[in-house]
Amino acid sequence: MIRHERLRPPSRDYPADEWSVVEKAFHPEFLAQLETMLAVGNGYLGMRGGLEEGGPNAENGTFINGFHETWPIVYGEDAFGFARTGQTICNVTDSKIIKLFVDDEPFWLPQAKLLNYDRRLNMKAGTLDREILWETPAGKQVLIRSRRLVSFTDRHVAAISYCVTLLNADAAVVIASEMALPQSSASASADDPRLARAFADRVLHPRAAYSKGCRIVLCHATENSRLTLACATESTLESPIPHGCKTVHGPDFGQVAFTIEARSGQPVCLSKYMVYHTSQTATAEELCGRAEWTLDRVTAQGFEPILSAQARYLDDFWRRSDVRIKDVQEERTKRTTVEIQQAIRFNLFHILQASARAEGTGVPAKGLTGQSYEGHYFWDTEIYLLPFLTYTSPQIAKNLLTFRYNMLERARARARELGHRGAMFPWRTINGEEASAYYAAGTAQYHINADIMYALRKYVQATGDDPFLRDCGAEMLVETARLWTDLGFFSDAKGGKFCINGVTGPDEYNAVVNNNAYTNLMARENLRYAIQVVEALRAGDADAYKALVQKTALDPSEPEAWSRAADNMYVPYDETLKIIPQDDSFLNREPWDFRNTPPERYPLLLFYHPLNIYRKQVIKQADVVLAMFLLGDAFSHETKKRNFDFYDPLTTGDSSLSSCVEAIIAAQTGDVEKAIRYGMAALLMDLADVGGNVKDGCHIASMAGTWMMLTYGFGGMRDDDGTLSFWPRRAPQDNAVLRFPVTYRGQMLEIEIALDKVEYALREGERVVIRHETEDIELTRAHPVAVRPVSRR
Ligand code: BGC
Repeated sequence: MIRHERLRPPSRDYPADEWSVVEKAFHPEFLAQLETMLAVGNGYLGMRGGLEEGGPNAENGTFINGFHETWPIVYGEDAFGFARTGQTICNVTDSKIIKLFVDDEPFWLPQAKLLNYDRRLNMKAGTLDREILWETPAGKQVLIRSRRLVSFTDRHVAAISYCVTLLNADAAVVIASEMALPQSSASASADDPRLARAFADRVLHPRAAYSKGCRIVLCHATENSRLTLACATESTLESPIPHGCKTVHGPDFGQVAFTIEARSGQPVCLSKYMVYHTSQTATAEELCGRAEWTLDRVTAQGFEPILSAQARYLDDFWRRSDVRIKDVQEERTKRTTVEIQQAIRFNLFHILQASARAEGTGVPAKGLTGQSYEGHYFWDTEIYLLPFLTYTSPQIAKNLLTFRYNMLERARARARELGHRGAMFPWRTINGEEASAYYAAGTAQYHINADIMYALRKYVQATGDDPFLRDCGAEMLVETARLWTDLGFFSDAKGGKFCINGVTGPDEYNAVVNNNAYTNLMARENLRYAIQVVEALRAGDADAYKALVQKTALDPSEPEAWSRAADNMYVPYDETLKIIPQDDSFLNREPWDFRNTPPERYPLLLFYHPLNIYRKQVIKQADVVLAMFLLGDAFSHETKKRNFDFYDPLTTGDSSLSSCVEAIIAAQTGDVEKAIRYGMAALLMDLADVGGNVKDGCHIASMAGTWMMLTYGFGGMRDDDGTLSFWPRRAPQDNAVLRFPVTYRGQMLEIEIALDKVEYALREGERVVIRHETEDIELTRAHPVAVRPVSRR
C-alpha cells in the first residue's frame, strides 16, 4: 500500500535546493516539523531546530545520546521475565538561547515585522543558518545573521555565531545569551505508544552552578540512572563599541547579557560556545572541570576554525557517501531532479548526524532529533543503518557493532532469565537491558539476534576486518547460535524439521506466531555463519580458537548441532499459492477489511486493539519481503515476484521501515511503477512528512533505507555471497544517471549507471576486483571499466 505525503509545506516558502533545506517564511503551523528537519547533531549531541530566541517552540529538545533516566515499569498484571526497567532519553539543558532586544523591544518572531526571512540547513557546511531583516515598531531595520552547528570533529561542542547589524539607525541593543533546563520532559500521549513517557517529577537534579565572567557552568544528575551532565557556555561579543556585560545564574538557568549602543552599519557579533560532558562515574566537580577544559580550548580557537573543521569533515563525508542523480524528471509525483537530490542528501545528512560520533552508544530510532521511542536502539541500526555505514564510514559501523559486543554479558543474563542458553539481545534498549514493556511486539522479536549477526557478516565481508570477527564477532556468533538451537526444536508435526515457535517477526501486526519465515531464515543464516567462523578459527587460528572456547565454554559438538538445526530449518511454503507464508497461521487469518478502513484510520495501531489486528491478515511492515531482500540469493526472480505480489496489497506500511524495502523488491522484480512510488514515499518520508509524524523526529531507519533502495535496488548491488557485485537496473527515465561511491576493503570505488552504460572507477586504493553481473572486473586507478548491462536481474 502506498502512502501519500501529508501536510506538505508550500514549495514557494520551502524551495528545493540541492544542498540545503530552505525556509523562506516563518510558518508557525510547521514549527514542530521544522524543529525536527532542521535539527543539528553529531550522534553524541543533538539539538532540535528551535529558534535562538528560545521560542516559540513546539517540542524544543537537546539530547545526549544514551543520557537517560530509568524508571520501574509498572504492569497492571505482571508476569515472570517481563522487562523491569524503563529507560527514557532526557531532554537536557538548552544552551542555544540568544535573546535580542532593540531599544528594549524584544525580537519575537510571531509578532515581528519581517522584511526578509531565510533559514536553511546547510548540508555542505554542516550548519543551520538564518538571515532575518526585522523592522522594529519604531521603523529601525535590524539584520540578524546566525549560524549554529554541533561539531563533528569535537563531539562535546556546539557553537553559534550571532550577528546583529542596524541598517538605518543607531539603537540600544541587548543580546542575552542564555541556558536553561527545559520546562517539560516530553509530550506523552496515552494513545500513541511511539512517543516518550512524560515524567511527572523533575528528572535532572542540580549538582552545581557557577559563573566566571561570561562563562556559565550548570551541572545536573539523574536520580535512578545516576548519570551526571555538565553543560557550560561561554559567550564573547565582538564589537569596537564599548559594551557592558552582566552575568547571572541559578541552579537551572544562566544568562550573560551584553548591552551596547549599536551604531548603524556596524555589526555586533556574539560567538557562543556550548559544551556538554556526561559521565556515570565522575563527580560534579570533575565533570564541570572537563567541560571547562573543552571550553578553554574552543574559545581560544574562535568560531571560524570550528566552522572550517566542520566543512572539512563534511567534504570528506560527501566524498565517501554522496549519491548523485542527473536528469530525473519523476512524472508520477512531479518531482524534479533538484527535489530528489535534496531528499537524498537530506536523508544521508541526517544519518550522519545520528551516528557520526555515537561512540559507546547505539543510534536511537529518531537519532537525536526527538524523544519519540524514548531514544532507544532497535534492530533499525543493524538492518537499515549498518549497510550504509559499512560501505561509506566503516569506522562508525565498527563502533556500533562494538557497542553490541559490549552488551553481550547483559544479553547472556537476559537469555538466562528467560530460560535460554546463549545470549539474547534486547529488542529495545539504551543501557543494554530489555526496555520493551510490551513483550508481544518487543521481547518476542528474537530476530534481532540474527539481525545483529547479519550486520556483522556484511561488515566483515565488506571491510575484511578479520581481527574484529576473531576478537568480538565469534563470541557473539557462538552465543546467538546457542540461542537458536535452544529456542527451536525438531518437530514431529513438521516432519522432523527445526521449528521456532512463539516469536514475533518484523511485522508487529502478527505477534507471537510459530515459524515466522523471516526469523527462521535469518536464524539459519546466523547458524551457518557461526559454523563457518568457528570452523575457520579451529582450523586456522589455534590461539583464537582456544580463547573463544575459554570465553564461551564452547563444546566441540556444538557446531554440529547448529548445523543440524540449520540444515533442517523449517521454512513455510504454501503449495497452492506458491508463496512463503509469513508464519504457520498467517494464511488462516481472516482478511482485513481494507475497503472499509478509511485513510484516517491508519496507522492501525492507533485505532484498533492489538487483538483486532493480530487475528486478521494484515501487515504493518515488510517481513517476508524483507527476507527476500536481505537473503536475495536464496530466492529466484519468480519467487520474489510471486511473494511481493501477494504481500504488497496486505502491507499497510504503518511502519516507516516498509516503503524502502518494498521499493527494492519492486525494482528487483521489474515493477518500475511501484519501485518509484514506494521509493518516493521512502525518500520523502521526512522531507514531505509522508507518515504525518515528522514533528516527533526523523525516521532514521527509513532514511538509511533510501540509500539501500538506490544502491541495492536501482543500482543492483549484491553482496550476499561475500563478493561485491552489481546487476544494475534500468534507470527510471531514459536519460537518468545514478552515481554513488562505495568503500570496499579499504578502497573507494564509484559506480555510475546510465541507460546503456555502467561505469566502474576506482577512486582511492590500488586495485580491487568486483563483479558485474556474472563477470569479474578488475579495477585500478588508471583503468575505469565501462560495460553495457546485458541482463536485468
Ligand atoms: C517498527 C519497528 C522499529 C521501531 C523503531 C516500529 O514502529 O515496527 O520495526 O524497530 O518502530 O523504528
